[in-house]
Amino acid sequence: LTQLFRPLDMLGWVYRTIRQGIIDMAAMFDLIDQRVEVADKPGAPALVVRQPSVVFDNVEFGYEPERTILHGLSFEVPAGSHIAIVGPSGAGKSTIARLLFRFYDPQSGRILIDGQDIADVTQLSLRQHIGIVPQDSVLFNDTIGYNIAYGREGAEHDDILAAAKAAAILPFIKRLPDGFDTEVGERGLKLSGGEKQRVAIARTLVKDPPILLLDEATSALDSRTEQDILRTLHRVSEHRTTLAIAHRLSTIADADRILVLEHGRLAESGTHLELLRRRRLYADMWARQQSEGGDGDEAEEAAE
Ligand code: ATP
Repeated sequence: LTQLFRPLDMLGWVYRTIRQGIIDMAAMFDLIDQRVEVADKPGAPALVVRQPSVVFDNVEFGYEPERTILHGLSFEVPAGSHIAIVGPSGAGKSTIARLLFRFYDPQSGRILIDGQDIADVTQLSLRQHIGIVPQDSVLFNDTIGYNIAYGREGAEHDDILAAAKAAAILPFIKRLPDGFDTEVGERGLKLSGGEKQRVAIARTLVKDPPILLLDEATSALDSRTEQDILRTLHRVSEHRTTLAIAHRLSTIADADRILVLEHGRLAESGTHLELLRRRRLYADMWARQQSEGGDGDEAEEAAE
């Protein structure tokens, strides 16, 4: 993938932003062979975000005309709040993220950020406001410093340092003989999964987006590293509007609101405890994951 996008390097920061978004999205959702189908409207203004709320307003969408995936989906994410999107495989969770990033336009309905329809603003400005942390990040065959600085054109050393610190990777980098100049190798192979993930988090922090899209999909990390990463993500998502796509419910039990998606419809929504008390789809999913050996006690505590 890195090779594929290399030639775009010369085309400057506009493409860097779009490219990074595409690469992160590709890592998140296997988008590699999917076309980017949308175009900016002529004279489209930039998205201006003061209060980063996200609204899906009656969104109807299908990848193919004969098969609707999202059926008039409506929900609101108030600025600064954290929502989790859960549901069975194929329910449409990743589709929501792809639409928010405007890889596709809905057939009907609107998606608003801070009151502006994302179809009316430039894609560049839209993507500048959304940070993505995929579970398996793609790093460039370059130095750690480059990979972090990539989050934003013109990032200064101090920004990179602060981001590395916040992503809890600074002590690791300092121990390396070449520090930030250490080469990460092809696709970051010289780093562990957890270290790669932290570099990706630092990259997102350099970008400093008001909206975060997290993929907490089944992790390739061992559970202790995963818990550490989750804690870091939790910290960095404070004060940012956060949408987390979750497979393991224990990781999102403290979300402000959990949206339970089923067949492209909002089956139920609420806090973890509200949904458990409702004893429907979420409670069933929770019970199933518990019996498979989840870590429910922690999550119950987190939700209290
Ligand atoms: P999972 O938990 O397995 O990742 P999900 O809830 O994220 O699933 P989506 O990836 O949003 O589900 O997919 C929703 C539906 O859309 C699925 O039935 C899937 O087959 C279909 N779909 C996804 N991408 C495409 C595509 N590019 N073209 C056609 N159909 C697609």
